[in-house]
Amino acid sequence: MREPVKTPWLQRTKLPLSMVGALSSLILALNFSLDLLSLLDIQREHQLLLLILLICLAAWALVEVMVLHLQRSPGEPPLNSLKTLLIVQLAVQCARLALFFMGGSVTVDKTYGIRVVELGLVFVFLPVYLVVFLLVGRALVSNYIVEIKSAYRKLQKSSLTLAKLATTDPLTGAFNRRHFQERVDVEVSRTLRHGTPLSLIIFDIDYFKKINDRFGHHGGDEVLVRLTELTLQNLRSSDVLARWGGEEFIILLPQCDAEEAQKVAEKLRLSIAEQVFGQVGNITCSFGVAEVSPGDLPDSWVNRADQALYQAKNSGRNTVCVADLRQG
Ligand code: GH3
Ligand code: MG
Ligand code: MG
Repeated sequence: MREPVKTPWLQRTKLPLSMVGALSSLILALNFSLDLLSLLDIQREHQLLLLILLICLAAWALVEVMVLHLQRSPGEPPLNSLKTLLIVQLAVQCARLALFFMGGSVTVDKTYGIRVVELGLVFVFLPVYLVVFLLVGRALVSNYIVEIKSAYRKLQKSSLTLAKLATTDPLTGAFNRRHFQERVDVEVSRTLRHGTPLSLIIFDIDYFKKINDRFGHHGGDEVLVRLTELTLQNLRSSDVLARWGGEEFIILLPQCDAEEAQKVAEKLRLSIAEQVFGQVGNITCSFGVAEVSPGDLPDSWVNRADQALYQAKNSGRNTVCVADLRQG
C-alpha cells in the first residue's frame, strides 16, 4: 500500500515560517545594535537616537524576511529561503560573540549598563537560537526525506513503465514476442523438472485483410484491442497471452495437456464468434493447439502449433485443430 506523504510541520503553514525568520531577524538586529552601542564611544543622549535607527533597521530586516519568503521561486520549499537566512544569522551571531569578548576591555567603563543587558541577551537568546536551529534543522531533514521518498517513488514508477514497454505490445497491451519466448523457456524447464503438461494455442483472425480494407487500419486496430480483452477474459491468470505477429496471437497454458488446451481454444473460438466487434460486426478466428512433447525444442513446438493453425485455415477457418505429439 502507498505510504501517505508527510509534510514537515514547519511547511504545513506559511505563518510559522515567516514568524521564525522574522523573530530571529529582529533579535539579531537588536543584539547587533547593542553591540555597536557598547563598542562606539558616543554620548548617552545620542545612544537613544541610534537605538531608534537600529530598530528601524530591524523592522526593515523583518520586511526583507517576509519578501524573501514570499518571493521564493515556484515549487521551491519555503524552508530554502529560511535556511539561507538562518545560516547568515548564525554567522553573524558568531561574529557578535567574538566582538563581545574582544570589546570587553575597550568599553567596560562607559557602557557598563548596556553591557549587562547585552550579556543577559546573549545568554537568553543563545539557547533560543539553538532551539530554533534544531527545530528548523529537523524540519529540513524531514523535508529532504519527503523529497527523496517522492523521487524514489517517481523512479519506481518510471522503471515499471520501462519494464512494461519492454515486455508488452503497445497497441493491445498483450505481451510481446520476446517476453513470450522468455516465458516459454521458463515453463519448458519447469515441465521437464516436474513432468507437468504444457500446451500452447496459436490463433489468427480470419480474413483480417478484408476488415482492414473495409473499415480502415484504425477499424482493424480496434478489433485487435477488443479481441485481446476478450481473450484475457477467457484465460486463467497463469496463462500467458502474447501478440505473435500482425493479427496472430499465441497463448502459453501451463499445466494443460492438449485435450484441455483444445477445450480452452474451443471456448475462445465460440466467444469470439458470438461477440459483436463494434461497426466491424462479427469476426472469426482459426486455432492451432500443440502440447509440448519430450525432446521438443521451443521452435519445433511452436512450428507444430503453426501447422495445426494452417490446417484449421485449410479446413474452412473458424476451427480448432490439434497437432499430434512429436514422434521420437
Ligand atoms: P486469413 O484468414 O488467411 O488469415 O486471411 P487474412 O486476411 O487475415 O490474412 P493475412 O495474414 O494475409 O492478412 C493479415 C493482415 O493483417 C495484413 C496486414 O495488413 C494486417 N495487419 C497486420 N498488422 C496489423 C495491425 O497492427 N493493425 C491492422 N489494422 N492490421 C494489421
Ligand atoms: Mg488472418
Ligand atoms: Mg496472419
